[in-house]
Formats: sequence, C-alpha cells, structure tokens
Amino acid sequence: MKNVAIIGGGLAGLTAAIQMARCAIPCVVIEKNQYPQHKVCGEYVSNEAVPFLKSVNLLPGHFDRFPKIEKFLLSAFGGKSVQIRLDLGGFGISRLFFDNHLYEIARSVGVEFLLNTVVHDAVFTNDRFALHCGNKIVEADVTIGAFGKRSRMDASLNRPFMRKPSPWVAVKYHVETEFPDDTIALHNFQGGYCGVVRVEDGLTNLCYLVKRSRLKASGGVEALEADMSRENPWLATLFSNSKRRFERPLVINEVSFETKAPLEHHILMAGDAAGMIAPLCGNGMAMAIHSGKLVAEAVIPFCKGKSTRAVMESSYASSWQREFAARLQMGRYLQKLFGGSTVSRLAVTMSRIGPIAHWLVRHSHGRPF
Ligand SMILES: Cc1cc2nc3c(=O)[nH]c(=O)nc-3n(C[C@H](O)[C@H](O)[C@H](O)COP(=O)(O)OP(=O)(O)OC[C@H]3O[C@@H](n4cnc5c(N)ncnc54)[C@H](O)[C@@H]3O)c2cc1C
Repeated sequence: MKNVAIIGGGLAGLTAAIQMARCAIPCVVIEKNQYPQHKVCGEYVSNEAVPFLKSVNLLPGHFDRFPKIEKFLLSAFGGKSVQIRLDLGGFGISRLFFDNHLYEIARSVGVEFLLNTVVHDAVFTNDRFALHCGNKIVEADVTIGAFGKRSRMDASLNRPFMRKPSPWVAVKYHVETEFPDDTIALHNFQGGYCGVVRVEDGLTNLCYLVKRSRLKASGGVEALEADMSRENPWLATLFSNSKRRFERPLVINEVSFETKAPLEHHILMAGDAAGMIAPLCGNGMAMAIHSGKLVAEAVIPFCKGKSTRAVMESSYASSWQREFAARLQMGRYLQKLFGGSTVSRLAVTMSRIGPIAHWLVRHSHGRPF
C-alpha cells in the first residue's frame, strides 16, 4: 500500500485524512500548530456540506446545539438594511470545536499526526516525496497540500500569487452579545465588511475583512472599530453591546483571492491552498471539506495500485476545476464589488440593497454534495 502525507490539518486536510485512513491507507498529517486552536474565520458552514458530513459520520454529536442559520441580513453604510431567507442556509460552529472534532475522529481511525511541525519544502524525485520539516524528513508516495490560504510552502513552491501583495487584513473575535441564532449578518463599512454569526455555547463570531490602507488610516483596530461604528449603526450597536471573549483579536494579513492551481509539482492542493473564495460567499469551509473528499477519491485508487499517478493527478485536477473554478471566479467578482470602490459604495448605499442581497445569496452558495 502506498502512503500519503498531508501538509496542514485544517478542514481540507482532516477530511481527506479520515477518508483515506478508513480505507486503510497509511496517512500522516503534518500540522504546524496543535488542537484545539482558534482560526480567523466567520464560522458559518453552508448546508451544502451536511449530506456528506452526515453520510460519513463527521457531523458533531448533539448537532442541534449548533445554531441553524436561515436568514441573511445585509446592511449598507448609514444602516440601510434588508433581511431575506436563505434557500439552503447553514450552521454556526467555531473552528476551535470543528477542527478539533475532526482531529479526534482522524486519530481514532488511525491517522498519524506530527503536530507543531512546519513543512518547509517538498521534493519529488524517483516517484517519491521527501518533506523537509526542520531536521526531520518525512517520505511519502503522495503529498496533499492542505496548508490553507498562505503558507511557507507557497513561498518554497514559488507560487505566483505570493508575488502579488494583497490589500486585505482579517480580524476575528468571539463575543457575548444579543444576536439571533438563525441569522447571518454582513455589515458594510468603508473599505470592508463584517460578518456576524452565532456559534455554539451562546457565543457570537464577529469577523471582518478590511483593506490595510483603511486600518492604517484609522490608526489601529480600536480606532477602526470606532470609525466603523460611526459609518454603520448596526456595527455601533454590536460593538457597544458586546463583551469580548478574546484578550485581543486574532488578526491575519495578506488575505489573497488570486488564482492558484489544484496541482503543482505533483502536489495535490486542497482547500484554500487550491483557491480561496471571498469570505462573503460563506462557503470556504464547505469547499475545503468538499475538496478533501474529492482528493481522497482520486488518491485512494492510486494507493491501492488501481490507477497511475497520471490518472490520479488528472482526475483530481479536472474534478476540482468542474466543482470550484467558476465559483472562485464569482467570489473574486463579489469581493471586488464589496471592496469599497466608489462604484460599489454607491451601489450598496443606494436603494439597490435588496436586489444585491438576493443576488449575493443566489450566486454564492454551492450545491449540496
Ligand atoms: C476573514 C475570513 C472569514 C471567513 N469566513 C468564512 C465563513 O464564515 N464560512 C466559510 O465557509 N468560510 C469562511 N472563510 C474561509 C475558510 O476559513 C477557509 O476556506 C477554510 O478554513 C479553508 O480550510 P483549509 O483546510 O483549506 O485551510 P485551514 O483551515 O487554514 O488549514 C490549513 C492548516 O495548514 C497548517 N499549515 C500551514 N502551513 C503549514 C506548513 N508549512 N506546515 C504544516 N502545517 C501548515 C495551518 O496551521 C492550518 O491548520 C473565511 C476566511 C476568512 C479569511
């Protein structure tokens, strides 16, 4: 049996690892952090992932304690807003909980983990990989790159998107506040937007994406939030009625939506490592799970000697293109629309808010898998 190394143990890496270990394929996940851990994420999972999660027993137990989200509230600068029903909807769950839940399942089915271990480079020679992790080398027949939106691996693979600086910074808190369980809100402000979703244990996720220039002009996170409150009364109410559960927010830089490729140097890329969708589409987590499923389906026959490397690579690349390429393109377009250019500011501020909300919902969610 051939063996598999997965770089990164987020949703994509863990989903793939579990599928392969259940087929008795030796599999190691190399993760630079440990579990449980917080991640910058809006924590709204589109229901498109539910049939799959259910069918392979990956939904958390007591699923009813996770908020079921059926409504979408969109607000513009100045506070004009609209609320509509979501056709498909989703649920709220913290990454602290979700990733750890999948990690526990992965361990129970025999996935090996190397935690607190960074992969610096993956070299492919003589039909095998050597993964360099500090002073350790891990060898594998197959490597899955599930290292998220931006990683040291992207630099070592010299991926073109790393040469294009991204203007986006993301900030996340968990707060205690009054917020309806069944709603996801997206509040716009100059240079960004803020998502609000209830997760488990009565906590609310507050996560925003903002242009770095805007953050700089305000003079830091606190001053920016004061400015955001002045621009949008929904945010004013939210910030003034929230008790923060984090000492300081989680902040990440250089959130890029540039095109990537699902296959590079024989590494099969999954989740954000293959392409990151704009958070306002609310389905990056579902897409990461979906691509974890697809990559496992391509790798399993190869590891069992039933297909060749060429077939594995081309079947994964084409199924990835079929499922995700058009959605990622739409996500990039939507991200531009909500990015605070003069045109989008006018569109969102004016009376177009209702049609925009419907259009956004129609174009952002995927089909159940
Ligand atoms: C601001 C923001 C809000 C979002 N909101 C939502 C939302 O509400 N709903 C939604 O569905 N999606 C949302 N997303 C998108 C979602 O977070 C991602 O699509 C999803 O996390 C992708 O999962 P992944 O497994 O590909 O990557 P990740 O979950 O990022 O996992 C990658 C893992 O790889 C590890 N790693 C990286 N480099 C290395 C290395 N060299 N060696 C070892 N390990 C490494 C990391 O530590 C990490 O654990 C949001 C994203 C952002 C930025």
